[in-house]
Amino acid sequence: MLEKRYIDLHCHSCCSDGTLTPEQLVILGIQQGLSALALTDHDTIDGLADFHTAGKQYGLETISGIEYGTLYLHGKKRTEIHIVGLDFDENAPSILEQMRFLLQARDDRNKKMVDKISSLGFPLTLEEVEHNAGGDIITRAHFANVMVEKGYLSSRSEVFQKYLSPGLPAYVEREFLTPEECIHSIKAAGGVAILAHPTLYNLDFGEIKTLCRMLKKLGLDGIEGQYSTYVGNQAKKIRKIAASIDLALSGGSDFHGQNKPDIHLGCGKGNLKIPYSYLEEIRRRK
Ligand code: AMP
Ligand code: FE
Ligand code: FE
Ligand code: ZN
Repeated sequence: MLEKRYIDLHCHSCCSDGTLTPEQLVILGIQQGLSALALTDHDTIDGLADFHTAGKQYGLETISGIEYGTLYLHGKKRTEIHIVGLDFDENAPSILEQMRFLLQARDDRNKKMVDKISSLGFPLTLEEVEHNAGGDIITRAHFANVMVEKGYLSSRSEVFQKYLSPGLPAYVEREFLTPEECIHSIKAAGGVAILAHPTLYNLDFGEIKTLCRMLKKLGLDGIEGQYSTYVGNQAKKIRKIAASIDLALSGGSDFHGQNKPDIHLGCGKGNLKIPYSYLEEIRRRK
């Protein structure tokens, strides 16, 4: 009998808010017995060159990826939704131009966040946050780490509950790309566009279906049918939506290393088994 081959199409390195380097992710992927791994850092492709080099060196199929944060406007609501791009040309002009835009958007926001957090009585510097981040992409998680390190609050979740979530005193919105811009750019670069973890957007399944239909019209290729935090019948419901509007299935752990210690590469919370056939079907969509 042929041995089943499993993959992971969603994880983060220290180039965004994970804690492992791209090379360490490749080594861990091999240790976990994976047949292919995609690196999908938030809003950056900086880790991909090292990731592919390590894949060749250690013998693992590595897939280019990115996870864009985008803004979905529906009715009076504004929801941040995540679009994962997979298997694209990372030197494509559409991608490189967006990387510059996103970095600038975060730079502008980071300066405002330093001022805002400091003025709330928690002095910190951009250098401290940059040092915590390690890579170019600085997220709210890195600000939270510094606030905990400096003893201002006791845990990251406390920082998010009291200060850093939308509507709270230290929250600063950043400029987003639209879902359409991200989907088009991924496809212009020869890749496929996937809706990440639809259960994390505070939408009911009717609203998720509406969102999927809208994105499908814009060119969306697939949706995450397996994900670490799906519970009960969520995965089943999502796969049903996918089948009804002809979206391919993707899947991934959303591994972040020590920043999300209960989630493991490849297997998530122990519940994931993402077959290589998902990747083959995704590639057939090109
Ligand atoms: P940003 O992209 O800068 O808005 O920040 C996103 C980062 O903040 C990601 O690393 C998220 O995991 C983290 N994050 C967002 N909300 C929370 C929360 N409630 N608790 C902990 N981390 C969070
Ligand atoms: Fe993250
Ligand atoms: Fe995400
Ligand atoms: Zn992610």
